[in-house]
Amino acid sequence: LDILRKEIRDVTENIINQVHHRMELSKQIGELKNKMSIDINDEKAERDIRGSVLRLSKKVKMDTDFSARLLNILLMESVRLQEDQQSDAKHEQTHLAVFMKAKELEAMGKKIIHLEVGEPDFKPPKRVKHAIIRAYNHSLYHYTETRGIKRLRDAIAKKARNNITGEEVIVTPGARFALFIAFQSLLKPGDEVIGIEPAWPAYKDCANLMGAKINFLKTTLEDRWLPNTRNLRKMINPSTKMIVINYPNNPTGKLLDIRTQEQIVSIAKENGIYLLSDEVYSDYTFGGFRSILESNYDKSVMISSFSKTYAMTGFRVGFAIARNEIISKLAKVQACALTSVAEPMQYSALAALRADSASKNRLIIQKRLNLISERLKDMSLSFFEPEGGMYVYPRLNNNTNDTAIVEKLLDVGVAVAPGSGFGSSYKRFIRISACQGENVLKKGLAAFEHAMDTG
Ligand code: PLP
Repeated sequence: LDILRKEIRDVTENIINQVHHRMELSKQIGELKNKMSIDINDEKAERDIRGSVLRLSKKVKMDTDFSARLLNILLMESVRLQEDQQSDAKHEQTHLAVFMKAKELEAMGKKIIHLEVGEPDFKPPKRVKHAIIRAYNHSLYHYTETRGIKRLRDAIAKKARNNITGEEVIVTPGARFALFIAFQSLLKPGDEVIGIEPAWPAYKDCANLMGAKINFLKTTLEDRWLPNTRNLRKMINPSTKMIVINYPNNPTGKLLDIRTQEQIVSIAKENGIYLLSDEVYSDYTFGGFRSILESNYDKSVMISSFSKTYAMTGFRVGFAIARNEIISKLAKVQACALTSVAEPMQYSALAALRADSASKNRLIIQKRLNLISERLKDMSLSFFEPEGGMYVYPRLNNNTNDTAIVEKLLDVGVAVAPGSGFGSSYKRFIRISACQGENVLKKGLAAFEHAMDTG
């Protein structure tokens, strides 16, 4: 035993030395990429190295799933090292960073027009107020079942249609937490996820936090933000365990047509991988919306929320819908983290479902998006007219950089989200949110026009 223990220690030390050597090489490669101004992520180089590692592990009869995960951990570390070398990657701004900065300025007494965050300015339904008072009066303020109270789960299932039952629902503190527990319970460190860019930054953050590798299929304004499913198929490898989609999309306002949605479902099905569909904006749809639940794929996970539809961001109530076996996995992580969503908030959400404010709110947002679109047309900017969601994502003209315009606008009291917060290739875009009244929007857009005109 002692001899074997010594040998295993030597082998482990050897591995660490080799990993160190690998990191030094990565840094050298990073310096070259920086000098040559080429992208850090190189799909071909990754494919080549993955191919040779998988061939080797098959030859020595090692578990290929394990070796692929080990390789991904090394690849992610290389990307991290190379990103650290590039100064602008380090200073990437997100809409949340701008929001925090705007809040600081407000605390110093400056007036700010908030066009950066996705928080509707209207009030939650009146019924919600009564539900909170009723919850207090009836002592409904205890721990609940981790998955959420049955009445709420049943009501969510009923709204989702498609023969969904309350057993296939988990109530979470916001869609963000539903995403977090889905990643934590369905992925292992070193697994891969595919997202579609531009994308809400939480997908990348959640993947990074748990050591999963996220690869993005990029979409372009020229292609009307339509994902190329042929390229998506090519991105799948044995480590890919999940595809994440978000339609209506934040930030582009794109809706997926049924054909493309079905192609994505087929790719997930053929490879037996999870398909997570973030549908928080589904009630803000101005054409036909089709939930992923209609595809009846047994490895799909739909997440949504009360935040946007009912203007209840601070109540922190969202949910995930999936097969019972998947929901059980999500519930295990939720039980570890927070027992259950606060009971009064669950009753508030139940009351919101009985209100009829969703269609009224949709009309308000649609009208505002039209107003923004018309103003952007006056300014001759290129953008996709939103089919849903709460945002417009125009391209800046004259090679203007997003962070330059964001800083300039903050100086005059207008906060907008930099496009690169949704993917590093979108430095020439900004996101304008339709969560303020029309007069405020007009003022913010006038400041934007002035900032663009004055370079
Ligand atoms: N998903 C997307 C695409 C979002 O844009 C947001 C919020 O901006 C969320 C989820 C978060 O929703 P919640 O407040 O329910 O956590």
